[in-house]
Amino acid sequence: MNNRRVIPLVVYLLVLVLVFSWANKAFGRDLNQVPYSKVVELLRQEQVRKFVVEDQTITLYLRAPYEGETTISAALADPESFRSEMHELLQQQSDSGVLESYHFVPDKGFSAYELILPLLVVGLVLLFAWAMLMNRSNNSNPLNNFGKARTVLGVPDGKKVTFADVAGADEEKDELQEVVDFLKNPDKFTEIGARIPHGLLLVGPPGTGKTLLARAVAGEAGVQFLSISGSDFVEMYVGVGASRVRDLFEQAKKIAPAIIFIDEIDAVGRKRGSGLGGGHDEKEQTLNQLLVEMDGFSRTEGVIVLAATNRPDILDPALLRPGRFDRQIHVGRPDVKGREEILKVHARDKKLDASVNLRTVARSTAGFTGADLSNLLNEAAIMAARDNRPVLTMEDLNEAMMKITAGPAKKSHVQTRKDLKETAIHEAGHAVAIYHLPTHDPVRHISIIPRGQSLGSTWYLPKDDSSNLTRNEMYEQIVSLLGGRVAEALFIGDISVGASNDIDRATKLARDMVARYGMCEKLGTVSYLDGGEVFIGRDYQTTKSYSEKVAGTIDDEVKALIDRAYDQCRQILSDNRDKLYRVVDFLLEKESMTGEQFEAVMQGREAEEASATDLFDGFEETPEQQETT
Ligand code: ADP
Ligand code: MG
Ligand code: ZN
Repeated sequence: MNNRRVIPLVVYLLVLVLVFSWANKAFGRDLNQVPYSKVVELLRQEQVRKFVVEDQTITLYLRAPYEGETTISAALADPESFRSEMHELLQQQSDSGVLESYHFVPDKGFSAYELILPLLVVGLVLLFAWAMLMNRSNNSNPLNNFGKARTVLGVPDGKKVTFADVAGADEEKDELQEVVDFLKNPDKFTEIGARIPHGLLLVGPPGTGKTLLARAVAGEAGVQFLSISGSDFVEMYVGVGASRVRDLFEQAKKIAPAIIFIDEIDAVGRKRGSGLGGGHDEKEQTLNQLLVEMDGFSRTEGVIVLAATNRPDILDPALLRPGRFDRQIHVGRPDVKGREEILKVHARDKKLDASVNLRTVARSTAGFTGADLSNLLNEAAIMAARDNRPVLTMEDLNEAMMKITAGPAKKSHVQTRKDLKETAIHEAGHAVAIYHLPTHDPVRHISIIPRGQSLGSTWYLPKDDSSNLTRNEMYEQIVSLLGGRVAEALFIGDISVGASNDIDRATKLARDMVARYGMCEKLGTVSYLDGGEVFIGRDYQTTKSYSEKVAGTIDDEVKALIDRAYDQCRQILSDNRDKLYRVVDFLLEKESMTGEQFEAVMQGREAEEASATDLFDGFEETPEQQETT
């Protein structure tokens, strides 16, 4: 913890202690209160051994069997008159020897404790207020920054980053070029009424260069770069996060044109109301403030917000609405070519031996991110330096590679060749199925580079308006989702858990078709999900409003639908086995494939650059040997 956190914390704690001690004084004693008459009664019953009045507290020391001390807080507005009232009784008890002693402690006024603490508090509060007032403009005062955005202006190491420093991410750079143009020359855009997004979300696994890209945009455009991490907004004190957001945008407007970069935006941007009874808590206030600020500044102000996350799925949908982060840029793990370029960038400041072949290194580092590759070269350099060698050799790189991949902390997904082949078959299965489904959106990109949870992925171009799907479209989506599993079953002869997400989605679609959208003849045009949705956490549970018999029919129909889709998919894939294998070979060689390359292969043309390499010479089995069905 640094000072900025400690000082406010101490103040909060002090206030807390004081409030408690006062509350205790005011109310605590009432806990033991017995009626005044009880005091007199106890005295008369000769139960009292000692009797002390101090301030407004009467302490009775009782005899056995009540042995001990009873503290009574009586409302002794005037202890003197109380004394004279009680005098006779006390004297009498004392004389008879029942009461061993009694005394009235003279009122000593305020105790030191009571006197000093309030003064201390007032003093501290004044000091706090004074510090805030006196140092408004002085950033070095820690108290001043409480509630202010903990931003980093400019880049930490002072180096200007440009697109040249970001290797391999060509598509990402293309998309961001537009932002650069806008920041450089906003008038050109605003004059013709072009709509430039307020916010862009960079989505991708850690280490893929999201921060680097954001810095490069600022560097290219020559504007200020204001960066903050989402977790900096999350504070234990209510209202602080929101005021930090406000402050951040104020700062940015002052130094505009500028880029605000919010790293790990998921820390503040989580869906609101997650969990039962999700109240209006600190995080929600912060997020609300962020939404307000995003809406509040106009496009002419020359501020663009970039944010990074690797969990776009947990972001509050409100953040992704038009005018906020309405554009997402996927920053993926680099493919072979990208990796080679990244290695080159990071090798610029290192002395490499002639034996070092970065292309070979790139080939054997499937799944590595830019950060991993930079780390790899750095580890190798450390090894060379440790042995007092002036240049870095291929052995150093191999050694570093082993260290990184075998190290327990390394989560990089480095696949074996067998895994890669299975992934390629799975993805090719999706793609080939999609190609043969007339209503399905075309394949845009296929890759066997692991991303997040999945080993590979097949993207297709989404339609403009995907919210209105027809029955045919939904059915064909089910067929394409099953493509991975069907390909595994057909061409590997065994099936894997890699398809579980596909199967979940296919099942959900089939269930929706049958039970929600009334798309099955047997059940008619009836929605069986009308029982209202019960909100539990973020999951919607549906209550049943139909009979067990209908439930059984729904299950049967869902299964029949999926079975039909499965059969159709198997037909497509077994009819197109040769083409599927050409896609697999291409993927094994290049790791990723564009939509055009895929089309070319499917139409029986040569995909560009589809020359064989020696990299995967372990794959010589012919498709026929693998087939089991
Ligand atoms: P993220 O923000 O996505 O977690 P960073 O931008 O912080 O990743 O990247 C960490 C480091 O990895 C960068 O500082 C850079 O050295 C290296 N790096 C990542 N991607 C690239 C790339 N495409 N080109 C060059 N270096 C990269
Ligand atoms: Mg980062
Ligand atoms: Zn799949």
